[in-house]
Formats: sequence, C-alpha cells, structure tokens
Amino acid sequence: MPDQSVPDQSVPDESLRAHMSPEEFRRQGHATIDWIADYWASLDGLPVRAQVAPGDVRGLLPPSAPESPEPFDAVLADLDRVVVPGLTHWQHPRFFAYFPANSSPAAILGDLVSSGIGAQGMIWATSPAVTEVEQVVLDWLAEALGLPEAYRSDGPGGGVIQDTASTATFTALLSALHRASGGAVRRSGVGGTRWRVYGSTQAHSSLVKAAMMAGLGEDAVRTIDVDASTQAMDVDALRDALLEDVEAGLRPVMVHVAAGSTSTGAMDDVAAVAEVVREWGVWVHVDAAWAGVAAVCPEHRGHLAGVEAADSFVTNPHKWLLTTFDCSTFWVRDRAALTGALSILPEYLRNAATESGEVVDYRDWHPQLGRRFRAVKLWAVLRTYGLEGLRAHVRSGVALAARVADLVSADDRWELVTEPSLSLVVFRLRAGDEETMAAMEAVNASGEAYLSHTTVEGRAAIRLAVGSWRTTQADVDRAWAALQDAAAGQGG
Ligand SMILES: *Cc1c(COP(=O)(O)O)cnc(C)c1O
Repeated sequence: MPDQSVPDQSVPDESLRAHMSPEEFRRQGHATIDWIADYWASLDGLPVRAQVAPGDVRGLLPPSAPESPEPFDAVLADLDRVVVPGLTHWQHPRFFAYFPANSSPAAILGDLVSSGIGAQGMIWATSPAVTEVEQVVLDWLAEALGLPEAYRSDGPGGGVIQDTASTATFTALLSALHRASGGAVRRSGVGGTRWRVYGSTQAHSSLVKAAMMAGLGEDAVRTIDVDASTQAMDVDALRDALLEDVEAGLRPVMVHVAAGSTSTGAMDDVAAVAEVVREWGVWVHVDAAWAGVAAVCPEHRGHLAGVEAADSFVTNPHKWLLTTFDCSTFWVRDRAALTGALSILPEYLRNAATESGEVVDYRDWHPQLGRRFRAVKLWAVLRTYGLEGLRAHVRSGVALAARVADLVSADDRWELVTEPSLSLVVFRLRAGDEETMAAMEAVNASGEAYLSHTTVEGRAAIRLAVGSWRTTQADVDRAWAALQDAAAGQGG
C-alpha cells in the first residue's frame, strides 16, 4: 500500500519575526509622530528651499539594501541626516512658491488611519465604508462650496476623490468623448473623427496631457486667447474658434474653464463659456484645482458663477484646504457618461451588490482599479476644523495676500502685474525681467522665503501664493523684507 500519511508541510513562524511586534510598532509610532512634530517645530529656522546639488542625497545612501534587518530607529535617524537637508519644505511658513500643498495635523492622522486600515476600496463590496464615507464627505464638501445639487450622490451625478486634478481632467475628457460619440470611443477608439478640445492659453498643461493620453494628440487642443489685463479666456474668440472648427468638419468635445489659472489665478467666465458652447453640446469642465476650495467662504464664490451649467468640476483640497496630498475632489453632473466611459467588469469582481445596482463602484470613476481610503483624511479635516475653521484659514490667506499687494503697490520699485487673485499676488520689479528674476533668485537662495515665477504677456513676474497652515503676518513681512533687500541689490 502506498503511504497515505500527509507529509509535514507546516511552515515555521520564522518569517513573523521580521515584523515589528505590536508593542514595538506602538513605540516606533510614537517616536515617528514625535519626529514629525519636531520637524514642524524646526521649520522656522530652516532654509525653505533645498540646499543640495544633484547627487548629494544619493551619495549619502548605500548602493544596496541591507542584507540583515535594521531597527526602525535607524530609519528615523537618517531622516535628519539624509532627507531633511535635501528637502524643500512645503509646510514651511514662508513657502510661497507654486501653490501650497497643504498638510495639517488632522489630515496626517487621517492618512495614517487610512494606511493602518489598508483597505482597497476599488468596489463597494471590497469595503463598503471606504465608498460610503467618501460619498458623504464629497456631498458635504459640494454643499460647503455651494456646488450644484446635481453633483450630489443622491442625484444623477456624484463626486469622487482622484489622486490629482490632472487625472480628473483626463477623466472628464474621457467622459466627454463617451457622451459625444454615443459610446463609440469606448468600443473602437477615437477613430477618424477630428475631435477638438478648447482651453485658454492659460489652461493648465494637464489639458494637453489629457488630449495626448486620450489618443487625440496635442494638436487636438485649440488654445484660445486671453484678455491682456485679466488673463481670462476671451469668450468671443472661443465662439469664433468653435464656428470655424465646426465649419471645417471638426468635432468640439470639451472646453476647459480655468477658475483660477495656475500662472496668475485668472478666472474664466464659467457662465459665458457654457452659454457659448451650449448649442454644440460641448462638455464643460471647470478646473478650479487651486481656487475652488475658497468657495467655502460665500464671499469667494463669485468665480464659480455659472457652475450649474458645468458638466464636471475639480478642486484640490490638497492644495489650499489642509488635506495632505493626494486629495483631488472631482464631481460630475451625470455619472452615466463617466462610468459609461470607464466601467469594466471582470469575472473576479462580480458580486451581488454591484449587480443590484444599489451601490457605487469607484473603480469605474477613474483610470486605476485600486484605491486607498483617502476620504478619511478629508473627513478628519472637515470635522476637526469645521467649515468655520476652514473659512478662517482661507480668509487669512486672502488677507495676507492683500497685505503683500498693498506693500507692492506702495513701493515705486515694484508693480502688480495682475490684480491679486484670492491668496495669489503676481508682481515684478519695474526695472525689468532680469532684475525681477535676479531678485527672486536672491530671496530663494537665501532660504528666507521661497517664491516662484511666471511670464505674463511675455514679461517675467514673481508669484507669491499664501496658504500654508503655519503662515502668519510676520512670515509675509519677512518675505517682503527679503524682497526689499533683493531689490536694493538690483540697484532698485
Ligand atoms: C495645480 C493645478 C493643476 C494640477 O494639479 P495636480 O493635482 O497636481 O494635477 C491643474 N489645474 C490648475 C488650475 C492648477 O492650479
């Protein structure tokens, strides 16, 4: 008789020893939070911009991973030795470059919880709370921003957290193509139709990237001129472009409306754009990545007038609204176009809840399948600040920017390039482009503050965007003092 006994295939628990014990995790977790709190406390004394040359950080790291385990303390210690000197400190109170990428204590704890739970929320069934908390939080935020009813999850539309506004814009374009093609794009691609996408010369570069990724090619994006003083889209020029394109047999599919452009915070007129494109059924996508969150304040909703007519809207709580990257909130008026473009149901994801049609499966709302529980950090922010606290944060940024604009206006050497937009001030040295850029570089090199630049109507300008959760008037004044010194250095 053959031997019927089962061979001993038990696996030793050896591998478990490699993990931190729960007690060790607790200890290291406390130490890590302490490290973050100490890091924040140290920021004021650190130069804002990284002070390293290419390769400096790499040079401090061994060429290979360690063969034997090291304690986590060793990783923490290397944060100070290797990482911190190679950082530009985005949470620094005098970080005024680009737009803020705000974090906040509440958001970080929320993010940590999300990591600790480690759930995949790709479909409702894989963790119902991940989907339903996200739906409710996005409904809350839509209401807080005064967005149209149609964007709520209990209507035909709904909201979803995307990683970035770039992905949201790409998703909007796919939805627009789905609707305009009656589903043909989903089945057989963009085909021979000569699709056209519109945005102003100031539209974010993610629009062109979206056209490239969607297979339309960058030439499919027609850029529309802006008004020289406001930098907002010239809506008459948009109308002319549409008429010309339709005449030439092209198919207009989407218009990108910048509600707060990246360069100067320019506000396209949402209502006027929507009115112009209406007769061709063009999808209206409002890109309010930076400025949209300001609408928590009723007095800062003016730039969204007409948003009821938009098909989709994106704003980034991860910029100005205290929610650790990544958290880009995206709403659509009619989710059928979105899920029509992106839904796909492989056998292994079939489940009763999906088939019942009673639940939302977020994997159909964006390019990727897997998704983390990002809603929890936004939930933490909305609850612990309250809308009141968020309004106070936005208002302080706007007030500090107004202060900078006053300082610029009061000094003959400097001039405003555009009217300040919310918490963004764009200005230059009257002396010229070279002097302006040299002054900015001097401030950035000093580490005293960090600013970025743009060009407006062909001339160099400095951008100062307020918005960090730790910025006070004293910080803005220090940045201004550094600019004054730099201007004097330019013979101003
Ligand atoms: C910052 C910004 C973007 C891109 O944001 P990501 O989330 O980094 O993709 C798009 N549009 C505007 C107007 C922006 O200011």
